[in-house]
Amino acid sequence: MATHFADRARIFIKSGKGGDGHISFRREKYVPNGGPDGGDGGRGGDIIFAIDPGMNNLSDYRHRRKFAATPGEEGKKKKCHGKDGEDLILKVPEGTVVKDAQTGKVIADLSGENRKQVILKGGRGGLGNMHFATSRMQAPKYAQPGGEAIEIEVILELKVLCDVGLLGFPNVGKSTLLSRLSNAKPEIANYHFTTLHPILGVVDLPDGNGFVMADIPGLIEGAAEGVGLGHEFLRHIERSKVLVHLVDGASVEGRDPVEDIRTIDAELQRYSESYSEKLLQKPQIIAANKMDANPAGKEEILSRLQEAFPERKVFAISAVSGEGLDALLAEISSVLASHKEDSQIYEPEIDVREYYGLQQDSYTVERGEEGEYIVEGPKIEKMLGYTNIDSEKGFLFFQKFLREQGILKKLEALGIEEGDTVRMYGLEFDYYK
Ligand code: GDP
Ligand code: MG
Repeated sequence: MATHFADRARIFIKSGKGGDGHISFRREKYVPNGGPDGGDGGRGGDIIFAIDPGMNNLSDYRHRRKFAATPGEEGKKKKCHGKDGEDLILKVPEGTVVKDAQTGKVIADLSGENRKQVILKGGRGGLGNMHFATSRMQAPKYAQPGGEAIEIEVILELKVLCDVGLLGFPNVGKSTLLSRLSNAKPEIANYHFTTLHPILGVVDLPDGNGFVMADIPGLIEGAAEGVGLGHEFLRHIERSKVLVHLVDGASVEGRDPVEDIRTIDAELQRYSESYSEKLLQKPQIIAANKMDANPAGKEEILSRLQEAFPERKVFAISAVSGEGLDALLAEISSVLASHKEDSQIYEPEIDVREYYGLQQDSYTVERGEEGEYIVEGPKIEKMLGYTNIDSEKGFLFFQKFLREQGILKKLEALGIEEGDTVRMYGLEFDYYK
């Protein structure tokens, strides 16, 4: 059964929290009250995704569901820096698209030139109290907390990179065709054989160009069993630029080629509706295979197919004898040439750091009765408690805090204008950029 096919997974990933800054004071002989010497916390580890060329599925992520980078260490006395957390590198096969599970939006596409990407930044290390001494505050009992960890659930989807997707019922000769045209060595069998991975082959053209063709064997086997596997496999041709429908032109197993194409079309249609992908809009070519076994029926097959699908090009081929393959390749390469600019890469749709950075902050922003903006939350209260806003350093820190916590962005999103009043607990100030 094809149920072990792993081209999709849902996992939780968590970056490391930044280490807190330390609060301590120098202790020297004969000096009763030394200055602050609390060191900075280490930064938390990142969650990084990287392509491993040796991988071709996501089975590593089927059993384990939680992945976390390590937190940064707290700062230490004597101005010692806490150790940075370790990054966690998650290896994935090329073509893996990472989506945010909550919004369904693309975070990253690990393919092409994008071999490695930081998905979640670790929290920054907090500054130790050694940074907060001022002329007015010589013994600051404040150190900056480390940046928060971020935890999100992501969906990993493997969508292989291919130019040409090969579609067809079992035994029509997909594997034979791929092995004939390309460097791939797929298993060829005269029984219904379900390969668990899409098989990619590089086809070299006489003009020096080439393309990647994918045999997606599980399509109809799974779909026919009604277990929805058809869709699992169709994901792999989302990136392709042209689809080649392969049918058995000799009806060796009694299949009707026109019916077969209609069935596959219906499956593409269903997929397109469920996933809003434009699979059906991709150019399609029909190849009637095994014509060596049915030379007399060639014209009839060609005209039936052409009549049923007037908008598609139809070719009579034999993957075994090689008949018709040059014409088929010429058509494929001309379609590819006219779709050169189509991107196969999924652009990021969400910046998790921004999106979740805002969501995770424990503060609220509301409009007061006089139109002022009221910012509240335990974190803010805590920060105001230990920051001396009257000092230059404290004020700079305060500004930075507002920016880093996303509070300024949030205020702007709510439509704040220059001169509007912002209130945070006991503090009131006018907003200026
Ligand atoms: P797949 O299931 O679509 O991958 O089909 P295979 O490539 O495994 O082929 C199924 C059977 O059809 C094998 O026995 C092949 O030898 C046979 N076959 C494939 N192509 C041709 C062809 O062009 N002519 C003939 N006569 N047999 C073929
Ligand atoms: Mg096969």
